[in-house]
Amino acid sequence: MGNTVYFVVPCYNEEEVLPETSKRLYEKMKSLVIAGKVSPDSRICFVDDGSKDKTWKMIEELHEAEPVFVGVKLSRNRGHQNALLGGMMTVKDDCDALISLDADLQDDPDAIDSMVDEWIAGADVVYGVRSARKTDTFFKRFTAEGFYKVMEIMGAQVVFNHADYRLLSHRAVEALAEYKEVNLFLRGMIPTLGYKTAIVTYERNERFAGESKYPLKKMLALAWNGITSFSTKPLSLIVTAGILLMVIAAILLLVCAGRTIWGTAPSSVEVFSYSLWLLGGIQLFALGVVGEYIGKIYAEVKGRPRYIIETYLK
Ligand code: UDP
Ligand code: MG
Repeated sequence: MGNTVYFVVPCYNEEEVLPETSKRLYEKMKSLVIAGKVSPDSRICFVDDGSKDKTWKMIEELHEAEPVFVGVKLSRNRGHQNALLGGMMTVKDDCDALISLDADLQDDPDAIDSMVDEWIAGADVVYGVRSARKTDTFFKRFTAEGFYKVMEIMGAQVVFNHADYRLLSHRAVEALAEYKEVNLFLRGMIPTLGYKTAIVTYERNERFAGESKYPLKKMLALAWNGITSFSTKPLSLIVTAGILLMVIAAILLLVCAGRTIWGTAPSSVEVFSYSLWLLGGIQLFALGVVGEYIGKIYAEVKGRPRYIIETYLK
């Protein structure tokens, strides 16, 4: 195994942060090369996600000035997840491992050393996990942590407080390339790869300059995408709700029948409403069952690999 490492940095309208980011990452790369941890063939790859400002021009200039910088340009804005995947798939054959991080220096570049160490020690996936959210506003922290909680309840497995700052070994990226789905939610997909994983904690900084490209609307869209792409749990919930409603209504109707025989007969309104509940329950249950089949079709359509071989001794 070689030790060529690529940094993959998606950028959308990041002209304000690129000069500083490129400088910091360049220094980081240089120190890693000098320490002999990564090969001098390692590169810093900026992925321009259809920016409307000078981002691409700046990437071109960086590339001209210094070969350590390389660039990938998407034909138009496709969103963070797609830009990241596009960048990773473009460089995967040139490197032995890659590290994805945000352009705004919120993912502390100093965590890269530990990531590389973990990789050298044998991990294929190293998650950057933020240790604190001190710099976040209450609202961002509340929504972001709520995001991980909801995801967990809804059955999508994600690493708590880990976003898209991670190292992937070459074979982990190769395995990821087998996932053909178009609704991307990388932080849900990566844990399904398997392989040896490790965690590196880091303090998340404030955005260095410019504005967040992830307003609440995009965050909610990401969460919704995460749930609907990863789990059919909402469908199972419908089935459970249907069964519950049916059982309750059936019991109440039985009680009504008993009262008619042995005591004072219930009013017709009462019987009528319980029948409605029963019917509602049956419908909900039937809908959920249909949903379960759709869930199966969904899984088939995604065509994810059924297994990934880690080792074959022969
Ligand atoms: N980004 C992107 N395409 C988009 C939106 C964002 O490539 O459509 C990039 C952005 O340049 C940054 C990263 O995704 O490198 C994370 O975005 P941002 O920092 O705005 O999100 P936040 O940290 O506020 O959640
Ligand atoms: Mg950010």
